[in-house]
Amino acid sequence: MSTIFSKIIAGEIPSYKVWEDEHHFAFLDINPVQPGHTLVVPKQEIDYLFDMDDAAYAALWKAVKTVEAKVRKATSAKRVVIDVVGYEVPHVHVHLVPTQELSDYPVPPRKNMEPAEFEALAKQIADA
Ligand code: 5GP
Repeated sequence: MSTIFSKIIAGEIPSYKVWEDEHHFAFLDINPVQPGHTLVVPKQEIDYLFDMDDAAYAALWKAVKTVEAKVRKATSAKRVVIDVVGYEVPHVHVHLVPTQELSDYPVPPRKNMEPAEFEALAKQIADA
């Protein structure tokens, strides 16, 4: 079954398209964090970013760079914040959110951790 983003790419579901090339499609997020919030999607249907092969992964970030310049210019953003979440739609997509200041982008609450916990986690990750 194709994802909602594949249906958007195929034109079966309408979207506010901002850019496209052979392998990528960019359009406005329907529920934006800020006006101009854009999603860049590879046309290939893959759920998880880090399952992409190296060439497709590199090409995606090049597409993101192209779209970022357009979003920044159009919105006069100071910084375009990017993130990759993917809990809602299982088709790789990079969020580009134009911002003027830190409060324009919701950052989750941070954890308090003890030095011993940092040490144990750093070792676990280093050894993984
Ligand atoms: P995530 O999977 O990264 O958690 O979030 C998916 C994003 O896709 C959300 O920001 C949501 O607003 C957006 N989205 C979900 N369905 C549609 C849709 O049909 N059209 C558009 N333009 N955006 C969508």
